[in-house]
Amino acid sequence: MAAFKAHFLTGLSVGYAASVACALGPWELNPVTPFLVFAGTSAGALLPDLDSDNSTPFSVAFSLLAMAGGAMAFLYCLRQSVLPWYAWSLIPPTVVLLLRYGVGWVFQQCTVHRGIFHSIPMAGVVTLAVCLALGYLGLPRNDVLALSVSVGLGFLSHLVLDELYSAVNFDGKSLGPKKSFGTALTLTSPSALATTGTYGLLGMLVYLNLELFDLITRRVL
Ligand SMILES: [Zn+2]
Repeated sequence: MAAFKAHFLTGLSVGYAASVACALGPWELNPVTPFLVFAGTSAGALLPDLDSDNSTPFSVAFSLLAMAGGAMAFLYCLRQSVLPWYAWSLIPPTVVLLLRYGVGWVFQQCTVHRGIFHSIPMAGVVTLAVCLALGYLGLPRNDVLALSVSVGLGFLSHLVLDELYSAVNFDGKSLGPKKSFGTALTLTSPSALATTGTYGLLGMLVYLNLELFDLITRRVL
């Protein structure tokens, strides 16, 4: 398993190559999109390790989620005409703690390191989920496509690097591949339930993004 720093540096390198391709390629994109592609690829390269309970990606992602939830709760309080002082002191902090530790704990219980989160179908789920979310924001399709593919590309770079570290054995203790070899760049996980659920989610996301696929097919054919 590659370390956080290795994934981060790989994400930056792949992200830079992807942003240069976007800037020089023939596609009509918003001038800001190559910068966002760089950020998206770099973030995508860290995402698979969300399944590692004590990892930096896990604590950063759930801290950001808690901050975003806290900000929304604060805005909700602001919109109320009269709110007692104890509601102000209870609602936003409770939302922050619930998201960071409550939802974070549930996520930890539902995931296993190097389980379905380290798999090719999950890379597809993440890519299509970003695509759907950005589509709802009303961004132009080319930009939506570039940004969602960049996150998926970063995600795949993480899986490839994990497999390389498992195959090459950089620690020098043994010559053969590590036990973890084959558990990152894979199509399934040891849990049949997690695998079935992920393919179900992937199918649902393909269906919800059908309009975009139709657009790509029309351009290619
Ligand atoms: Zn990993």
